[in-house]
Amino acid sequence: MTKLIYMDNSATTPVKQEVLDEMLPYFNIKYGNPSSIYSLGSTSKVAVETSREKIATTINANAKDIFFTAGGSEADNWALKGVAFANRKKGNHIITSKIEHHGILHTCEYLEKQGFKVTYIDVDEYGIVDLNQLKKSITDETILISIMFANNEIGTIQPIKEIGRIAKEKGVYFHTDAVQAIGHIKIDVDELNIDMLSMAAHKFYGPKGIGALYIRPGVKIDPLISGGGQERNRRAGTENVPGIVGMGKAIELAYENLDEHNNKLIELRDRLIKKVFESIDYVRLNGHPTNRLPGNINICFEFIEGESLLLSLDMEGIAGSSGSACTSGTLDPSHVLLAIGLPHEIAHGSLRLSLGDFNTKDEVDYVVEKLVEIVARLRSMSPLYEKVKEVK
Ligand SMILES: *Cc1c(COP(=O)(O)O)cnc(C)c1O
Repeated sequence: MTKLIYMDNSATTPVKQEVLDEMLPYFNIKYGNPSSIYSLGSTSKVAVETSREKIATTINANAKDIFFTAGGSEADNWALKGVAFANRKKGNHIITSKIEHHGILHTCEYLEKQGFKVTYIDVDEYGIVDLNQLKKSITDETILISIMFANNEIGTIQPIKEIGRIAKEKGVYFHTDAVQAIGHIKIDVDELNIDMLSMAAHKFYGPKGIGALYIRPGVKIDPLISGGGQERNRRAGTENVPGIVGMGKAIELAYENLDEHNNKLIELRDRLIKKVFESIDYVRLNGHPTNRLPGNINICFEFIEGESLLLSLDMEGIAGSSGSACTSGTLDPSHVLLAIGLPHEIAHGSLRLSLGDFNTKDEVDYVVEKLVEIVARLRSMSPLYEKVKEVK
């Protein structure tokens, strides 16, 4: 095998050719600064505003409420810190979940050091947040609820509409990290009562280093970067024009054939899961059986280390992930798998395969074939597995 089989689309996606084509002139031909008065500048300005409009339309927002950032982590940091510090007089309590991305969790830890109180809501065995616990946790001091739209590791989609309703009833701001959801699920910020929403272009076939935060009018939030007046005085700095143009094109393409695209992904996903369950024993699917991202597969193979599995797959030209890209490289089991109740030793043996636009049925079949071989070989080296087999 020389061709790479890429099944790590939740970590990042390749930039689509149409997206790249649209971006290229903004590097060296239409390179003006959007703040400049002459026409080269206004060409860039128009491109930025066109992209803002495309993004806004997609989530049923107004263009002026979309603020470009340097990606998902930056949007997450801004939403949390910006709201926390601007509303300190009202209260110091923030609610989030135990399975958030580190962009949220580490920001919460920082805010705790600054004197804020954070409640981390539990999730059930499928990774769905406990809505009763959420309701009960809200106090007069609560200023913000931040719950992710869909989980990056196990793919579980949260009951966002219910959470939005609870937040609205209680007069608490609701932020959602929708980095895994945007470009893959239809989102209407009004219908769902979302006050702030984070996104990142590189998770839907756009470029890396560009994202956005939607901020509903009236939300009290500190500016992120002081300087020039860009992004309505909230996020200073000359705009990443090629990135912004690419993000606009990518979001447009993502929603063009969404249902058809998702149906294809679901078919591939379910085919892979079914084949693995038919051909390998001691496996467990993590995340919700149906209420999950169309391309997400997360499976535990008992008696195996996730890292060894990944290395063996890599030798066969297959790219997957164990835990999230940010934590692989450490040997800590995933906080998400622990939160859904898996014991440490099983949480270590998990594999995430995230399918995308470019994956095929043949690739799925090839990956299962290789998994069968690799899992058998790795288990043959596991004394624990041999023992279990003897008893059987
Ligand atoms: C990828 C990801 C992020 C971080 O986005 P970056 O653009 O890499 O900063 C945040 N949240 C979730 C759920 C993600 O999947």
